[in-house]
Amino acid sequence: MAELAALTVTGAVLDGATVGLRCEGGKIVALGPDVAAAPGDETIDAAGAPLAAPLVNGHTHAAMTLFRGYGGDLPLMRWLREAVWPVEAKLEPEDVYWGARLACLEMIRNGTSRFWDMYWHPGATARAVEDSGLRATIGQPLFDVDGSSAEAREMARASLDELAAHGPRVGSSLAPHSIYTASEGLLRWVAELASEREVAVHIHLSETEQEVSDCIEQHGARPATYLDRLGVLGERTVLAHGVWLDREELELIAARGCTVVANPVANMKLAVGGVFPYPAARKAGVRVGLGTDGPGSNDSLDLLSDLKVFALTQRHAAADATVLPAGEAWGIATGAFAPLLTADVGGGLRIGGPADFLLLRAGSPELSLGDLYSDLVYSASGSIVDTTVVAGRVLMRAGAVAGSEEIVARALERSRRLGLG
Ligand SMILES: [Zn+2]
Repeated sequence: MAELAALTVTGAVLDGATVGLRCEGGKIVALGPDVAAAPGDETIDAAGAPLAAPLVNGHTHAAMTLFRGYGGDLPLMRWLREAVWPVEAKLEPEDVYWGARLACLEMIRNGTSRFWDMYWHPGATARAVEDSGLRATIGQPLFDVDGSSAEAREMARASLDELAAHGPRVGSSLAPHSIYTASEGLLRWVAELASEREVAVHIHLSETEQEVSDCIEQHGARPATYLDRLGVLGERTVLAHGVWLDREELELIAARGCTVVANPVANMKLAVGGVFPYPAARKAGVRVGLGTDGPGSNDSLDLLSDLKVFALTQRHAAADATVLPAGEAWGIATGAFAPLLTADVGGGLRIGGPADFLLLRAGSPELSLGDLYSDLVYSASGSIVDTTVVAGRVLMRAGAVAGSEEIVARALERSRRLGLG
């Protein structure tokens, strides 16, 4: 990408006041009522558009856009074994690249600045992230229950080296797929390597009730307790799902400083039959983020739409309308309560922070009346985003993203190659 000019936005609205914002070197260097452009700056006149922090998708498999609408009427284990895994065996890096480019395009359009990804050919996803302008923490999925543990370890090491060679917007993690696909030995090894290399661990945990009962039967403990025994739980650990975590597990997870990422829409689509226990997690002090999960099992990457589902299911399951106030829900979707998710550069709209922000559509019917947070959670969807800026670069301006048509066409081509499209 070309050398980046400084960017100045004027006429945006933040907390009811008109503000400007100036970005230089990928950081916010000025934010307030009197910000003016310097000569040579790229400029945006926000014309009354609300300024907002971008969304953080804490768990996805971006390139699974290729699988959208494929095998979608199957339960989790049959969907994986019959629809997903046989096709994944044929994936090439170019498939993953264009699938991930499509995902990035969608995330730019719906206001997501960064995501946590777990997928095959992680170097191809990293290239897609770099080319699209987003940020991501990426992990190679690790399996050894049906295969070789030595091979999984080799893939893990190679992926960390490959990902480290990418630019500052790409981070790496170790991503054992789950406790039912990664052996005890592999999980212990992951915990040691993650600590040695100071990288995150990203794993699916407690997604189905079956996973919990199998874990108790095989290991004599519930999933979080089992992972803790192997040394996997720590401040750099992301646990996706957590639907069936009980109070003791939530207290353990809070004590270890792990982050749990809830994926309400994927859980409902795969009919797991439960709801992430947010009120108990909050009470225990667990760090919580929100994810879409892969577009093969959601099928959307519109985190703002999923936020509404998250808030509704929490209120409904608790039979309590006070369980998740709108401002808190918005904080969850922007990573405000899960510092690990934005740990590389931090989050939030502040001077010195990353130049990552959104301008929402000025004068839109969905946001013009009432409380902004309540409107964002319950009235809007990702289509409310007008302009997306990441690291000071304008990725979408007035709803337009450069190269959209080619990305859609190439992703469709790759999906057809795999017999999916
Ligand atoms: Zn997942």
